[in-house]
Amino acid sequence: MNSEDVKAIEALLSKPQKIVIIPHKNPDGDAIGSSLGLWHFFNNKGYNVKVVVPNDYPKFLKWMPGTESILNFEKENTQSLACLSAASLCFTLDFNDLSRVGQMTSVLEGLSADFVMIDHHRAPSDYAKITYSDVTMSSTCEMVYNFIVALGGLNEITEDIANCLYAGIVTDTGSFKFASTTSATHLTAASLIEKGAENALIQNRIFDTNSPERLQLLGCALKNMVILKEYQTAYTTLSQDELDTYHYKKGDTEGFVNYGLTIENIKFAVIFIENKEEGIIKISFRSEGDFSVNEFARAHFHGGGHTNAAGGKSDSDLPTATSRFTELLKSYKADLNS
Ligand code: 5GP
Ligand code: MN
Repeated sequence: MNSEDVKAIEALLSKPQKIVIIPHKNPDGDAIGSSLGLWHFFNNKGYNVKVVVPNDYPKFLKWMPGTESILNFEKENTQSLACLSAASLCFTLDFNDLSRVGQMTSVLEGLSADFVMIDHHRAPSDYAKITYSDVTMSSTCEMVYNFIVALGGLNEITEDIANCLYAGIVTDTGSFKFASTTSATHLTAASLIEKGAENALIQNRIFDTNSPERLQLLGCALKNMVILKEYQTAYTTLSQDELDTYHYKKGDTEGFVNYGLTIENIKFAVIFIENKEEGIIKISFRSEGDFSVNEFARAHFHGGGHTNAAGGKSDSDLPTATSRFTELLKSYKADLNS
């Protein structure tokens, strides 16, 4: 964060504020970890502060300290609306366009609060008074750590804050293995462990809580995988029927898309997941190297994200979405084989 932004934040925080912190829809570990990390920081300082999530998040994130204080816009609508409309300062974390909060979009657009964006995705929209956007960051949690340090709060990082921020870094870096992991990421993680983050326990709570049904659903996704050697691409699908068979619960498909990339010479992996309730196919894109899935998702599937990890959606049915995808690959053949 530049010094001008730090000064502007300090000026905002020197006045009494009603702060609301908002992560994106279907929040992941980075979204919840950064929101709760920042929530603890402000809460400990005596600010009036609340986290409002657009909808529910997976059980494997619900151990995070402060989780019980979160308001769910979908389930606790009246309370959430009251909290949002009273807010004077609104932090949006781990997203950079108001369309990413689902049903909350029009509410946020109508707020008179000052907005602060903290985010690491590509192509930020221009809605915030202060935009702390950095695509070189591993995670929003790493940025919240920098934000707290920039405000002189290094010594105010408690064990709870450290646990939340460490969880988000672990989630977004795939346990420190994705290309987005830098020396700064490791230094931040080291500092968080010094502050009390329980690194092994966090990894266990996020990754080692499989139900038998989830592993069977993974088996189904692996069985459905289609390898397109000529495009160095692997894609897979999960239909609503398959999700129902294995009693799908929120978060169960997290990480499935990455398996495609573990195949030798595959550098583009995709999963198409049917969601009958929303009438869409949710798509996750992953790549290795220079092929930008952010651009691909943006250009063809109403989505976006990072160079190597992005998401999007399709309004068609599953077979139509996959055949359209396969057709599209033809015009990317050179890029995918470069
Ligand atoms: P995932 O595939 O795990 O849902 O998301 C991968 C990355 O892309 C995440 O950083 C996520 O925030 C972003 N992302 C997922 N879905 C969308 C989408 O529909 N639109 C945009 N702009 N970004 C998305
Ligand atoms: Mn993130």
